[in-house]
Order: sequence, then C-alpha cells, then structure tokens
Amino acid sequence: MKITRITVYQLDMPLTEPYYLSGGRLKFEKLDSTFIRIDTDEGVSGWGEGCPWGHTYLPAHGPGIRAGIETLAPALIGQDPRGLEHINRVMDVQLPGHPYVKSPIDMACWDILGKVAGLPLWQLWGGDAPAGVLVNSSISTGTPEQMLERIKRAAQTGYTVHSAKVGGTDIGLDVERIEAISEALPRGHKVTFDVNRAWQPGVAVEVLNSVKARDWVEQPCETLDQCAHVASRVSNPIMLDECMHDFAAHLEAWKLRACEGVKVKPNRVGGLTRARQIRDFGVSVGWQMHMEDLGGSALADTAAIHLAASTPEANRLASWLCHYHLSVDPVPGQGARNDHGVAVPPSLPGLGVTPEEGVFGDPVAVYEG
Ligand code: MG
Repeated sequence: MKITRITVYQLDMPLTEPYYLSGGRLKFEKLDSTFIRIDTDEGVSGWGEGCPWGHTYLPAHGPGIRAGIETLAPALIGQDPRGLEHINRVMDVQLPGHPYVKSPIDMACWDILGKVAGLPLWQLWGGDAPAGVLVNSSISTGTPEQMLERIKRAAQTGYTVHSAKVGGTDIGLDVERIEAISEALPRGHKVTFDVNRAWQPGVAVEVLNSVKARDWVEQPCETLDQCAHVASRVSNPIMLDECMHDFAAHLEAWKLRACEGVKVKPNRVGGLTRARQIRDFGVSVGWQMHMEDLGGSALADTAAIHLAASTPEANRLASWLCHYHLSVDPVPGQGARNDHGVAVPPSLPGLGVTPEEGVFGDPVAVYEG
C-alpha cells in the first residue's frame, strides 16, 4: 500500500465565547485548524486534524502545520501509511522537531491502519471495550463567583471533573479562587487547578502551602525543573502539561519525581504514535493521565478519546473535549461526544469519523505523486 495523495484543508473555528488563561493574560477567540485526507493506491483513505490552541499557548501555530506539510509531503508520497514508526522516522529526518506539524499526518495514517485491520483505534491500542471516558469541564479564569457559577452550570450538564484555570498576577485572588472552589465543589466531584505555567516557584510554594486545595494542581511553573522543585514542597498531586514536549521530558519528570500525572496531548508530542508511547510509559510507572488534544473539532477529540478508552481505568482521570467550545461542527453527529459527562469512542474501523465531501470547501493544497 502506498500514499498517493495528501489533500490539505483549512478551517477557522470560532469559540462560542472568549476563553481566558493565566488569570486573563491570554485570550482566545478562534482556532485555526488543518484537516488532511491521505489517499492510497488501494482506495483506503484516512483523516487527520491538527489544531493548536491559538498561537500564544505553545510553540505551535496553525499556518505552521500547512507550511510543514508542504515540506514533508514529497517524502511521504509513495510510503506505506501502515508502517507508523517508519512514517514517523521519515518525517523526523525531513523535518526535525515541529511535532505539531506531524500529528495530523500520523493521525491519518492510524485511521488507514485501523480501516485496513477492520478495528477501531481503541482496540488497536489494547482496549477490550469501547470504554466510557469521563469528560472534564474547562473553567475559564474569572472571579471566584464567576468560576463557581461556571462549575455549577457544568455540573448541571453532567460534568463531575473540572479543570479550573487559575494563575493570575494577583496571588491573593488565586488563593480566593482555590479556596472558594475547594469549599463549594459538590461531593464526589474532582477538580484540577490548572496554573498554565503562571507562577514563579516561590509563588507556587507560598500559595499551595497557604490554602487547602482539593485534588490536583497542574503545571504550576514554566519549566520541568521548577515544577519538580514545587512538587517536593507541596502536598497536592502535580499534573504536568505544557513543559512535556517529548518522551525524554516524561522520563526526566519521572526521574525528578516531578509529578503524579500528565496530560497526554497528541498534537503537542507529535502525534498518536508518540502519545501512545508516553501513555504506555505512564501506565508502567503508575501515573494518572488525561488524554486529550490541544484543540480541534470532534475529529481530533475522537482520536484522543480512542487513546483514553484503551488506557486502564486506574491510569486515566478524564479527557477534555475541545469541540464543545466551538461554534462550528464540521463532522456533525460523528465521533466521541459528551453524553452527561462521559464520551464513548466509535467502534467503526479506524478513527470512526469521516468528514463529508465539500464540508471544508476547496483544499488549500493537494500533493500527489
Ligand atoms: Mg493544562
């Protein structure tokens, strides 16, 4: 089997309401998503999506994906898409780094492999059933009252796990946010206070030792070393996210005892192949993980839910679904959807999501052998 064509589409996806991170320092209003279809000489096609969370969140941006695919495409045409490790080696030789560029290509190749095998991805990755995965809410930074109101609304629609975004410049306000949410959270609900790198290590140690925060604290500081310093001085379990760019970072985090869990985001680490490797490592060292993508429609969300559903329940906490924050839905009715706080992956072969012809308009690029 050979790749004969790579077709690239672009779609602007507005958020239903502006989203704030890091105490309001970062504002997001729309996402720039790249969808690709890979065709083969045997008539099987696969879909992938790459959608960074804006361009201020990580060293990844929408136009960069399309520029990177232009560079990679000539080397990919003619390759067998079922050899995922080989495909990734080809991409790494042609374009070192730039993991976010490779993720949609890797995803489309997994879709093809699943279709050829006649198996859904959750089963290819070791799952025994299309397990229901807990979906977590994402509570944008605001005043304590605004955040409690958002959690209340989320709880009414079935969410029991919440990610509350904190980390402003006003330490006192962060303390108030954490105390108010820890106090008011319904019994049986879980919360992660996601700092998104905003604190200096001294601030993190001061804040977390002066409040009784429930549950997890995520990415308190910018670097892995800083987070490891904090982890050794506070009592809450630590989840790491933005500083984890490759397998080596995960190995280092484990050596440093820097965390008890990680966010596994395919687009951040270079695709599902790399994400699965990290997931398997996390299972072997007893981490609890969230598997979700940086952003995207129900297509990218569904890929991550396949990975989550194939992960032992003891090692997965929840997954966030980006498509819930979007005002457009290019794959209506398809894929893993939030049903009262739970998402189930499709049992169709491959990804189980196939965008309809013409839904993205004309392609922005077509690469052929
Ligand atoms: Mg995070």
